[in-house]
Amino acid sequence: HLKINEIEKFFGRTHVLKKFSFSIEQGEFVCLLGPSGCGKTTLLRIIAGLEQPNNGSVYLNLKDITNHPPARRNFGIVFQSYALFPNLTAEENVAYGLQTKKITRKEKHEKVHQTLELVNLGHIAKQYPSQLSGGQQQRIALARAIAMSPDFLLLDEPLSALDAKVRVQLRNEIKQLQKRLGITTIMVTHDQEEALSMADRIVVMNNGALEQSGLPQDIYDHPETPFVADFIGTMN
Ligand code: ATP
Repeated sequence: HLKINEIEKFFGRTHVLKKFSFSIEQGEFVCLLGPSGCGKTTLLRIIAGLEQPNNGSVYLNLKDITNHPPARRNFGIVFQSYALFPNLTAEENVAYGLQTKKITRKEKHEKVHQTLELVNLGHIAKQYPSQLSGGQQQRIALARAIAMSPDFLLLDEPLSALDAKVRVQLRNEIKQLQKRLGITTIMVTHDQEEALSMADRIVVMNNGALEQSGLPQDIYDHPETPFVADFIGTMN
């Protein structure tokens, strides 16, 4: 259980997050949905420990982790830009984070290959990122995050750099994988269709504040503010 309590964040005079609160239950897939610049990435970075809030707290299972560095939080992160090491093969990229785990070489090898199989990439283990498609690179980034057996998966616009066909395919793959492994997941997106098709629950953000939180169908059928009605109604 993760609880974000009254988070405030300023960058200079810009008030990016305004007493933002929400929580997520074990195994849930929550989408933070909102327009560009509303503060989604900043919130995700605060959850990951990559950014400190000016006020407010982050609680993990009732424990205050606001000041814990990223390494003390067992969170897997996937970025829009894949962020793979170009000089490492697919399997080396997935193995990278496992260096810090106290497991044998054999266990590590097995873990890497099991995870690559999970994202249907067992056959490209020896290839370098530049030899792979955008969708394949993002699957590797996903495998790298999952291999660490994270408590939480944080996805920052993971599909927005991909073309439409691959995007829809990966939506389904990520959703199925998330359910199968039961990983609690927070995904940031500005794409309402993506949120509606993937999330167990949607948290709609606007201008650093929460507009509405609820089941996708409820948000779609009963928007509570003009902003939500307009934003959800405008399909790309
Ligand atoms: P996008 O989808 O475009 O990434 P977002 O909703 O994720 O948007 P953020 O990236 O969180 O929004 O940015 C929110 C606001 O904070 C923006 O006005 C942005 O310019 C500003 N901002 C973000 N990071 C910094 C920073 N390190 N320094 C100064 N301003 C920042």
